[in-house]
Amino acid sequence: PVPVLAIDGPSASGKGTVAARVAAALGFDHLDSGALYRIVALAALEKGVALDDEAALAGLAAALPARFEGDKVLLDGRDVSDAIRSEACSVGASRVAALPAVREALFWRQRAYRRGPGLVGEGRDMGSVIFPDAQVKIFLTASAEARADRRYKQLIDKGMPANMDDLLRDLRERDERDSRRAVAPLRKEDDAALLDTSDMTVGQAVDFVMAEAAA
Ligand code: C5P
Repeated sequence: PVPVLAIDGPSASGKGTVAARVAAALGFDHLDSGALYRIVALAALEKGVALDDEAALAGLAAALPARFEGDKVLLDGRDVSDAIRSEACSVGASRVAALPAVREALFWRQRAYRRGPGLVGEGRDMGSVIFPDAQVKIFLTASAEARADRRYKQLIDKGMPANMDDLLRDLRERDERDSRRAVAPLRKEDDAALLDTSDMTVGQAVDFVMAEAAA
């Protein structure tokens, strides 16, 4: 079986950047599972589907015309890479992700994701639900302050509006919802290595994951 690296952790922990760099270094495919929940939220917002209509959302998720192309995310052939990063989609993703039928509808899409010579899967439940058999499991986290600070810089870089207090509050709310939900709650599994990147550079975090992969 091809190797799978599972990287889980809270929002804005840097796991996306780390996962992308590790995948590139190893020549592996990269599954950004959070993007799937974000696309469901975006599609729901656009179609006017209520974010608590579990059956309708599961239907959307099961028939999601979404594709990953390089580092672009396409919905119905349209580039939504930036649109899914909005605060509305972040909050929406965390709401639809709490619904079991939505998670179920996205399960096989993740299991069947192309694995090339190997796969780096990144999200909340990669090591626990989607790839419980992964060779390497990492729980990548950082303090809420460090994470809010990173998101702030990302938004400013993109010329988007950002407010530190709002970001911190939204992050905490999202962490809370992700940790307290009944299905696939956000938490470190016993068999995952803990990586706290609060005081680390991206390069140091990448080195840690590469060392785990080589071990
Ligand atoms: O990782 P990202 O911030 O893009 O994920 C957006 C939301 O999708 C998270 O807040 C979480 O609620 C949900 N998610 C999830 N399971 C995953 C990935 C993301 O529940 N594997």
